[in-house]
Amino acid sequence: MKLQADIESPVRIARRGLMLVISSPSGAGKSTIARSLLEQDTRFSLSVSVTTRTRRPSEIDGVHYHFITRDEFFRLRDGDALLEWAEVHGNLYGTPREAAEKAMRDGRDMLFDIDWQGALQLQEKAKADIVSIFILPPSMEELKSRLLRRAEDSSETIAMRLRNAKVEIERWRDYEYVVINDDLDRAFSAVLSIVNAERLRRDRRPGLFDFTSVLLEQASADIGK
Ligand code: 5GP
Repeated sequence: MKLQADIESPVRIARRGLMLVISSPSGAGKSTIARSLLEQDTRFSLSVSVTTRTRRPSEIDGVHYHFITRDEFFRLRDGDALLEWAEVHGNLYGTPREAAEKAMRDGRDMLFDIDWQGALQLQEKAKADIVSIFILPPSMEELKSRLLRRAEDSSETIAMRLRNAKVEIERWRDYEYVVINDDLDRAFSAVLSIVNAERLRRDRRPGLFDFTSVLLEQASADIGK
């Protein structure tokens, strides 16, 4: 599936980077959607979190997460090196500050795959730059079967994630957009639509001022002809 991720006009207009926060209960399909977005839209980079969770066999240190010890985590947190952090399913997760702040300074878009606690902290810190999407599963049965299908976690971990799903689903109201993932292609194209629309917002494109000034000068010149 190849969809056009950017419907902006070909004229380059300076703009502010987007901080796209995607959250969901485990197994709702958020990571698949996030991966597709990163593959198809090269303007996005992923904020790679630090975590004290054990690495899954399919995960690569430094790509999916930076896997660190609890001591290292507390050192980063106490040194103010994390933009937000939270305990999720018994492990600690946090967003490294430096990479995110650099992306914003450079006007690049950044994707944050974080839970509702982290989303709230980011919304408090950078409301104007945040776009938040909550992904819901079509049913609890489907969520359970997706968690079982993944088969990378122990049965205790899966049971805990299912118990926690109720608390997580209750947070849907904290997000600007809600996408129900009953069909992956449809859910992904809904996410792309949100991204496209948000990129076109006037207040995200400070360069529009210069662009319209040029247009108006040209219009005046044309009238003067
Ligand atoms: P998992 O262990 O399945 O990779 O992630 C568990 C949960 O932790 C997911 O909901 C994920 O979005 C969240 N998470 C991952 N990184 C961060 C982070 O840096 N901060 C917060 N608050 N949550 C995170």
